[in-house]
Amino acid sequence: MSTVQGASPRQIVVVGNGMVGARFAEETARLDPAGEHTHVTVVGTEHHHAYNRVLLSGVVAGDYTPDQIRLPVPDTPGVTVRTGTTATALDTENRTLALDDGTHLPYDELVLATGARAAFPPVTGVAAPDGAPGEGVTALRDLADCQRLLALARPGAPVVVLGGGILGLEAARGLVGRGMRVSVVESSPWIMRRQIDQPAARILAERYAAMGVAVHSWRVAARWIPGTGLELDDGRILPGDALVVTAGVRGNTELAKDAGIEVEHGIVVDDRLATSDARVHAIGDCAQHPGGGAGLIQPGWEQAAVLARRLTGTAPNALYTGARPLTRLKAQGIELTAFGQVHEEDAEDLETVTISDPYGGRYAKLSVRQEKVVGAVLLGFPEAAATLAQLYDTGAPVPADRLALLQGLPTTAPDQPQDQDGPPSLVCRCNAVSRTDIEQAWLDGARTREAIAERTRATTGCGGCVRDVQALLSGMRGQADAPVG
Ligand SMILES: Cc1cc2nc3c(=O)[nH]c(=O)nc-3n(C[C@H](O)[C@H](O)[C@H](O)COP(=O)(O)OP(=O)(O)OC[C@H]3O[C@@H](n4cnc5c(N)ncnc54)[C@H](O)[C@@H]3O)c2cc1C
Repeated sequence: MSTVQGASPRQIVVVGNGMVGARFAEETARLDPAGEHTHVTVVGTEHHHAYNRVLLSGVVAGDYTPDQIRLPVPDTPGVTVRTGTTATALDTENRTLALDDGTHLPYDELVLATGARAAFPPVTGVAAPDGAPGEGVTALRDLADCQRLLALARPGAPVVVLGGGILGLEAARGLVGRGMRVSVVESSPWIMRRQIDQPAARILAERYAAMGVAVHSWRVAARWIPGTGLELDDGRILPGDALVVTAGVRGNTELAKDAGIEVEHGIVVDDRLATSDARVHAIGDCAQHPGGGAGLIQPGWEQAAVLARRLTGTAPNALYTGARPLTRLKAQGIELTAFGQVHEEDAEDLETVTISDPYGGRYAKLSVRQEKVVGAVLLGFPEAAATLAQLYDTGAPVPADRLALLQGLPTTAPDQPQDQDGPPSLVCRCNAVSRTDIEQAWLDGARTREAIAERTRATTGCGGCVRDVQALLSGMRGQADAPVG
């Protein structure tokens, strides 16, 4: 770390105490535990300590209480967290940040981690002219939304979810599990339009119908009538005591824009995560990097780690170069994983293998280009999901028996061993934890999932890797218990 002896710590101010701002503070505290080189002040509008927003649909489903999803608060002299405080203006010339309590914070480096908010479509009754949710309407972005939703919807009550993307489908699953009668409305031709193809969506919609959720795709909402329900463009009214809006998000970019910083749909950043003002950085859902990644936690956490290394001076040249997103639907009883190219089956050099089993509610599609996995949709194929995601990450050659691969059956090992030249195969993508990291944690004495989580952070993001970590643990226990000789 390069700092001048005796110099006062560099003042870093973070706007936003969400998942990414909090991770930045945690990483900085890890790299500079005594706060000798940096002092981080985090300001956040929400009154709570930071929490795992990804698990909010689990709170709706009743799988977690709000306390169970809290994130660790760094307890070090180098970090100060001010909850219930909103940044109102940024003065890049004098390098100060104005707060809603009338004070101004000076900074050497500023980190914008302001996240995003729910986008409310311009449908009568959904939002008031000032942007506040209409009567009986809520988004699902923060803990306050969760509490509002659970207060609006009692068991047996009809609820309409507007938006059939991942978030809407997770909310619908949680609500039906709590005994509500749920309809989902999606304006695209099929649900999860960005992540999966139409045949998969059809089977997924049938799975939802079997759970009691009515899915209405390619239908536009015309009007929300409080106390009655949602009127569609074909005149039908779906009964609803509550309307949950999950129709996309909009980056919180106003602070940057008003300060003259370059903003498009997000705050524009380069590989150093610097904005058009070199002293101002942006990470997480509010940032727009050429390699994408906004809207998912793994890229945000990776950005937080890269920026912490840069600003503490631990690795001043660290760069963030983009994301390879993978989507997992967190809906009890449904195993759905999708990643990469899934909509390009007509491309000449693309080979696709598909298994469609509508009766069994299963569907798998594998896209291969030049012997490498470039995309997959896996509904009801959890074993294949882990293997294919690893092949996707590492770029290792695909085994010849594609069908066996999709079914999760043993296949002839690829010619080139995995992990040799390419990136390591990840088990926990949210936290970039590889199989080797987990094996090392085991060697260091971690014998339970909780102990592995404590050492590596695996399973503490979206929770989608719990099964894989358990399987690795069982394998290692088996090996340890096996008689020698
Ligand atoms: C229900 C749900 C499920 C999700 N599931 C997944 C999933 O399975 N996988 C996945 O990868 N991603 C998922 N996501 C997305 C993931 O949660 C986000 O990518 C992540 O939270 C982004 O973190 P962030 O810190 O950038 O933004 P946020 O978590 O939104 O935090 C931003 C914070 O900044 C605060 N803030 C904003 N403006 C100011 C200001 N001016 N002053 C002070 N504070 C301010 C906000 O109040 C907020 O607390 C999900 C999101 C939701 C809502």
